[in-house]
Amino acid sequence: MRAIIAGGTGFIGQALVVALRDAGWDIVVLSRSPGKVAEVFGHGVIGMRWDGSGWLELLGPDTAVVNLAGENIAAGRWTGEVKRRILESRVNAGRSLVKAVGEASAKPGVFVQASAVGYYGPRGNDPVDEGAESGSGYLAEVCRAWEASSAEVEAMGVRRVVVRTGMVLGHGGALARMLPPFRYFLGGPPGSGYQGVSWVHLEDEVGAIRFLMENKEARGAYNLTAPTPVRFRKFARILGQTLGRPYRLNAPAFALRLLFGEMADEVLLSGQLALPTRLTEAGYVFRHPDLEETLADLLAVARPT
Ligand code: NDP
Repeated sequence: MRAIIAGGTGFIGQALVVALRDAGWDIVVLSRSPGKVAEVFGHGVIGMRWDGSGWLELLGPDTAVVNLAGENIAAGRWTGEVKRRILESRVNAGRSLVKAVGEASAKPGVFVQASAVGYYGPRGNDPVDEGAESGSGYLAEVCRAWEASSAEVEAMGVRRVVVRTGMVLGHGGALARMLPPFRYFLGGPPGSGYQGVSWVHLEDEVGAIRFLMENKEARGAYNLTAPTPVRFRKFARILGQTLGRPYRLNAPAFALRLLFGEMADEVLLSGQLALPTRLTEAGYVFRHPDLEETLADLLAVARPT
């Protein structure tokens, strides 16, 4: 089996590449800087340019294309220019891959398209699964355009899976950004803490992507989130307890808005309780369904008995 992974140098991509490579897959990573692929993975993983034609010849029924590429949404304050890059990098990546698949004589067996639970927009009390409508706001708009960018491969007879991922917890990513304030007793939930956090352990993110790649019945949208989403105040309480640093204060909404602008409202102060209904119905068994265990695992802290 072979996987061609666009954005494979990123936080999720690296874990996916390593898991598949260790399971004997041939891996090609499409990168804007293919030279760094060897630096990141050593030998055994080939880096190629998006616009090179070399990888087109590798397509075929035993090949999976995975599209994880996109400008990081948490890299900085959302100026007009940053918002343009967040949207265009995703839409252009999807379209480039569709164009390439269209030109190739042999089509891939499966196309995995990244998306996010931001698709559902800010939600209140009610949990959402894949049957829910898309919501309001900039991130929901980005997710709709992102998902649509590769939809055309379906008309080419390619099985397509869309993965609506929640906040991925691993060594890096969002958790790494949250740890320093907690370690200095300054951590706490943003705003009221009432907003939902749909989280997933990196091992399950990778495990579920692989499950959907290999399960020939899988197609359409899947929430990649643990079955136990929580409100942010509970997330912060468990994180604080795991670190031995109970939180005392909520981070005030006005201060977050001052610091992060619109991103504060869309990413920190609102959220959703997303459920992985289709994934569990398809038979995926989560290795880390519980938040306390997940944080203890990632922060290498023994669980209280
Ligand atoms: P990263 O930001 O770590 O990596 C994404 C990769 O995309 C980079 O390694 C980079 O590869 C490529 N990339 C970055 N900017 C651009 C650009 N302007 N144009 C084209 N390619 C670009 O993302 P993650 O691994 O964390 O996530 C993968 C996907 O899943 C992302 O699209 C993300 O939005 C989505 N997601 C992630 C979540 C998370 O918690 N991590 C949650 C929900 C969704 P290179 O430099 O090699 O070209």
